Amino acid sequence: MTTKSKVALVRCNSYEIHHVTQAVTRAVDLLGGINLFIMPGQKVLIKPNMLSPHPPEKAVTTHPALVQAVAELVKSSGGIPSVGDSPGFYKFSRVAEVSGIGEAVRKAGARLVPFDREQEIPTAAGCLMKSLVVASEVTNADVIISLPKFKTHALTCITAAIKNLFGCMPGLKKAEMHFRFSDDNRFSHMLADIALSIPARLHILDAIVGMDGNGPGAGDPFRIGLVIAGADPVAVDSTACRIVGIDPLTLPMVRIAAERGVGNASEERIEIVGEDFQKVRVPGFRYNPPAGAGRLLPIPDFFSLRFKNWIVRKPRFLRAICTKCGACVQICPARPKALRMEKGRIVIDDRNCIRCYCCSEICPSKAVRLTRGFGAALLARTLKL
Ligand code: SF4
Ligand code: SF4
Repeated sequence: MTTKSKVALVRCNSYEIHHVTQAVTRAVDLLGGINLFIMPGQKVLIKPNMLSPHPPEKAVTTHPALVQAVAELVKSSGGIPSVGDSPGFYKFSRVAEVSGIGEAVRKAGARLVPFDREQEIPTAAGCLMKSLVVASEVTNADVIISLPKFKTHALTCITAAIKNLFGCMPGLKKAEMHFRFSDDNRFSHMLADIALSIPARLHILDAIVGMDGNGPGAGDPFRIGLVIAGADPVAVDSTACRIVGIDPLTLPMVRIAAERGVGNASEERIEIVGEDFQKVRVPGFRYNPPAGAGRLLPIPDFFSLRFKNWIVRKPRFLRAICTKCGACVQICPARPKALRMEKGRIVIDDRNCIRCYCCSEICPSKAVRLTRGFGAALLARTLKL
């Protein structure tokens, strides 16, 4: 991308609806105003992160106040807002109610749309995949506004604007994609295909309270105090990373998206508006480097796949916490499956595990831990990583 990408930073220290409305409106105004993105009468799909049924204070899902504020802003500009997502495993209606998003949508007078019908669309020129299966609600919309939550992620290190568009795929398709693109480099190329083919017009990142540690489902709430918005998802993610002390160009997801022309990642190509970037930086954000061995050292992928048990982090199941709900076994996309329930406990077959970490993402009880392989632990100790 040759032109600079504008990213708006606006402080917001609470989820009181009037604070969030003020912050969202200011962020969008700094980008040129809502009418730059929406024309009256257009159908606007608002796509929050609705991973799993958790209350807002757990920071697993986009906060309902942000959803309400954006839906009201869309209405005020003459757009017709609907709110939808495709939770990987759980029922959409349950996630909507437990997360508070259902109530927020009703308050804003918008419509909730589960992503339960699918449609195949051709991908943009230059993509690796020829076509994509996405929810029909995505293709029916005139405009997409993405509302990601800023969280750590076991496979991609962080999840924010680029990764949120993966949720435009219906649930089972997402599992299939994990199987087809089963390391972080290939997965990142798949995400770039999606971002190029489903160009959301605006990304408004909920970084008021994000999640650090064992995200995206089992980490801890982490206060950043910002709404971060822009039309370029790579610039939004890169800026959010720098604010919490991550170099975005070390993340395959961000680097590959930038190389593929999804957006800008380098500081020189991003124009920050609103808050002073230096004054909003937040220390203490805990995250794991990207999953692949090649991210620990420049090790070729064929090597890391062959020696994955030695190098790449692997899931372990904590018997004392596991409720035996079976969600991880059902979501596991490996073929043959890497997980089974045996005599009332989860058993993993390391040979089949593709290290997609869907089990960790989906577990409602924080019973899945990712542990470094022996080789990686030794290497990390030696190099003091
Ligand atoms: S590990 Fe988590 S998802 Fe799997 S059965 Fe136990 S509680 Fe359920
Ligand atoms: S065991 Fe977990 S990490 Fe391994 S393939 Fe299955 S869901 Fe993915």
